[in-house]
Amino acid sequence: MSAQDSIVIVGAGCAGLSAARYLKQHGQQAIVLEARDCIGGRVRTIHDFGIPVDLGAAWLHGGSGNPLKKIAQEISLERRVSDFSNLAFYGIQSEGDVIDPLKAADNLLVGLQALEKAMKSASLWPYLRTVVGRSVGLGGSRASIADVLDRAAANLKGRQDSSQLLAFMRMYFEDLDASPVEELGFASLLVESATEPEGGMFPTDDQFVTGGMEKILNYLAQDLEVHFNQVVKHITYDQHGVEIQTQNETFKAKAVIVTVPISVLHSGQITFKPDLPRLHQQALRYMDMGLVNKVILQFPRVFWSESVDLVAMCNSPLRPIFINYAHYKHVPVLIGIVGGQRAHRIEALSDTAITQEFCSELQRVLQVTVPEPTKVVVQRWKQEEFAGGSYPRYLVGATGLEPKHLATPIQNRVFFAGDATSLTEPGYLHGAFWSGEYAAQRLRKM
Ligand SMILES: Cc1cc2nc3c(=O)[nH]c(=O)nc-3n(C[C@H](O)[C@H](O)[C@H](O)COP(=O)(O)OP(=O)(O)OC[C@H]3O[C@@H](n4cnc5c(N)ncnc54)[C@H](O)[C@@H]3O)c2cc1C
Repeated sequence: MSAQDSIVIVGAGCAGLSAARYLKQHGQQAIVLEARDCIGGRVRTIHDFGIPVDLGAAWLHGGSGNPLKKIAQEISLERRVSDFSNLAFYGIQSEGDVIDPLKAADNLLVGLQALEKAMKSASLWPYLRTVVGRSVGLGGSRASIADVLDRAAANLKGRQDSSQLLAFMRMYFEDLDASPVEELGFASLLVESATEPEGGMFPTDDQFVTGGMEKILNYLAQDLEVHFNQVVKHITYDQHGVEIQTQNETFKAKAVIVTVPISVLHSGQITFKPDLPRLHQQALRYMDMGLVNKVILQFPRVFWSESVDLVAMCNSPLRPIFINYAHYKHVPVLIGIVGGQRAHRIEALSDTAITQEFCSELQRVLQVTVPEPTKVVVQRWKQEEFAGGSYPRYLVGATGLEPKHLATPIQNRVFFAGDATSLTEPGYLHGAFWSGEYAAQRLRKM
């Protein structure tokens, strides 16, 4: 295999585009091979509702260090700072006994503060990581989030709302980490403690993009050479170079940066010759893809509170958290976010069945007549061959170092990037962005 000058990047999502852009900025041309016929990957903006709606990433998380916030600023992308404490929280305490949602939200926030206090810490996440993990014998990182919550429950004894608080925390983790808490490794808390501000339950500077996240990806893709409909099947490497085979072409390069989702690596859609080293295989063993799906419902009119950012329905079967577009965009649209096992149910149900279930849940908890939706879009990420889920999660037994191991270059020929390779921000768009830049930096140094 002879070494060529070119560099190939597999995948035109945020990580792939950021890697290609970095190389271009440093005078090195790369070609990007993308399986689909468009850029973006797990960033997808639709315009079916007359306004931009994101089916994948919608928030720019983290503080001012998030590089995508700077880009958003530069291109004047429309966005709103989310106030996660401004939520209507519908919890049904017992059959037919509906509590006031705003009062419930206030109670929930007070309760969560008590939960924090009960854990004798100003901040829940560092406390869970450093104190609970050691003192209650969870065995460091070899515990599930469910174990942590069970032990936390002991600290809440005596509080009437303890079961509701824990139900909320389960929902919070399931939606945030896209998995049932029983399957989520304790290492997930490392991620939360990295992204949550000290001393607070909720992030205070998360920006919800209302102008379409695709604009950031379009910005990154400017002047890059992207080849569409190129499904990479085989990657062969040795000390001289790399050969990348798609379904209809073979590309030779001096190095490759692979940015496909971790589910694609798991599925064996791409074979590596020689096999990936043990370090990488071990990393893949303890991380996989979680699942969050979105259901967008447009109604003829708004019949819920317009003043809240989020509407949460804690005890209902699908337990969606709705992003309130009546608040953000003044349109009668609710975007339901459903994570974990409930998201797997969404994959199996028809659009009609999902719509019926959502509407009857809304009717039950809001106690109003819910009109027939005028349009519904259901996004099922697991069924997508080139996504296979929403974002990576740590499994029980993970150490938290898996992203670092996966990102370790192989013979200075094969580099991995993508949201599963970000040590501090796995599963986030800006984590994917940084991982692409980091892989490109390492490659340039070789
Ligand atoms: C529902 C949902 C909500 C989310 N919400 C947020 C949020 O609010 N904020 C946030 O920061 N993050 C969020 N994320 C996560 C964020 O979208 C991802 O972390 C990020 O987009 C990952 O970028 P990536 O480049 O690593 O991977 P991807 O975007 O998946 O890009 C990988 C690319 O590789 C291509 N590909 C796959 N297989 C092949 C192959 N064999 N050959 C060639 N190309 C291939 C794919 O088509 C894709 O274009 C969300 C994700 C989902 C699904």
